[in-house]
Amino acid sequence: MTSYDVIIIGAGPAGLTAAYELMSSGKKTLLLEKKSQVGGLAETKVFGEHRYDIGPHRFFTKNKEVYDLFLKILGDDAVEVKRKTRILFKNSYFDYPLTPLNALFGLGIFESIAIVFSYFVARLKGYLKISKITNFEEWVIDKFGAKLFNNFFKNYTEKVWGIDCKDIGKDWAAQRIKGLSLSTAIKFALFPNSKKRPKTLVDMFYYPKLGAGMLWEKFEEEIKSKNINVVKNAEVINIDDADEVITLEYLSDGDIKKVSCAHVLFSNPLLDFINFYKDELPNEVIDAASKLEYRNHISVHITIDKKLFDDNWIYIHSPELKMARIADFTNFSKDMSIEGNYPLTLEYFCFEDDEIWNSDKNDIIDFAISELKQIFKEEFQVVHTDITKNPKAYPVIRTGYEENLNILREWLSKKKNLTAIGRSGMFKYNNQDHAMATGLYAVRNLLGKGNFDPWEVNVDGEYHEEIITA
Ligand SMILES: Cc1cc2nc3c(=O)[nH]c(=O)nc-3n(C[C@H](O)[C@H](O)[C@H](O)COP(=O)(O)OP(=O)(O)OC[C@H]3O[C@@H](n4cnc5c(N)ncnc54)[C@H](O)[C@@H]3O)c2cc1C
Repeated sequence: MTSYDVIIIGAGPAGLTAAYELMSSGKKTLLLEKKSQVGGLAETKVFGEHRYDIGPHRFFTKNKEVYDLFLKILGDDAVEVKRKTRILFKNSYFDYPLTPLNALFGLGIFESIAIVFSYFVARLKGYLKISKITNFEEWVIDKFGAKLFNNFFKNYTEKVWGIDCKDIGKDWAAQRIKGLSLSTAIKFALFPNSKKRPKTLVDMFYYPKLGAGMLWEKFEEEIKSKNINVVKNAEVINIDDADEVITLEYLSDGDIKKVSCAHVLFSNPLLDFINFYKDELPNEVIDAASKLEYRNHISVHITIDKKLFDDNWIYIHSPELKMARIADFTNFSKDMSIEGNYPLTLEYFCFEDDEIWNSDKNDIIDFAISELKQIFKEEFQVVHTDITKNPKAYPVIRTGYEENLNILREWLSKKKNLTAIGRSGMFKYNNQDHAMATGLYAVRNLLGKGNFDPWEVNVDGEYHEEIITA
């Protein structure tokens, strides 16, 4: 059995960045990845000449160190993209982030009056202090009115999370829709160059010219060249830390292999990870874990011979469509396909026992194509299709999830040589940059280079959703 100083589970952004930070430390490191390629949820799927991300990936960060690392690794392979995104609702397109005038007038005069009226009702209730604000829905209604909530928040939020907006905490809304009331939005509409324009509203971003996953493939090249052992098609299935040394079992080519180490950094889903310890978990931890859930995600990849839109992606708020979002990757980088071909990813969110998750691949593709035709009502030829199923892609942020997560964290904190990193590993709605930062900080702690708290990364939930602005 080969022994290592550190074993990292998962070669997504968190695991690869952790390995990068370890590569000059002299620590013997093994990175185990279940899939046949690196990048995790930020991978790029390549089918011949068609390249697709599993959903649109825009790299953005306020962490200078992470940003510098992104640019250093990508070098000349970073292309600058001018962001264009819109919302589709009631057969009309709306700017994203939502602009007040567009939201008001895009739906016709009667709906506009209703929006303004419901906004003033909400403000009046706020003024009279009779608003009840206990959840996401009530928080948004208080800020924007019930009409705007129903039109531009409810459908999409419920498609993504699969739960009622009343079951999402008000704190979650407060963190993400910070400072953007309808009145501040109007101010930004009137004074678009205002210096106080929130930083989150960036409309340019860098993108790796061959897809989001290109960044992670370049990380892989770099760490392999510095003697980090990366093993793909290697699914960790068990851990034993009864002794000083930790033993891991992983599946590789149908065989079970064993390796040992002094420290494990894991970025595989937290609920899978604690399941390795199911025989020793206290009831309280089992109970808390049973109340946490992940949302699955399906990417339907369809290349067509016609350009249907020039947005990077479009949010599909229309409740009659199951699709949540659609992206055309040639609007990110022309190198994502050959001339005249347009690789699209259509996204569906679901739970593990939902019909769509368990449907046949061809049925899912046919259904997605029918929705595509319903939206665009144009003739096109389908050049290529495939799907990617992404289990446990979104940690569900149901009210009270933090308390349950804290119980798991408390148990984990007693295991001094096990460290959670990344999005699914920490059960946190993290983006790539956050995942990277958790990997960096966890390794620095391990190397005695500081006392960082990876759980503090993205604690204020910055920038994820830019829901309304000028
Ligand atoms: C649809 C979608 C759109 C997104 N858009 C953006 C965006 O615009 N910008 C942005 O910055 N971020 C975006 N993200 C988030 C980003 O993809 C994640 O934050 C990032 O990939 C998290 O990295 P990670 O390493 O923590 O986890 P992951 O990417 O989930 O990587 C974990 C890895 O662990 C592997 N693994 C799991 N179990 C095992 C096991 N038992 N043994 C071995 N390996 C295992 C997995 O195969 C995976 O490769 C998006 C995510 C989704 C799903």
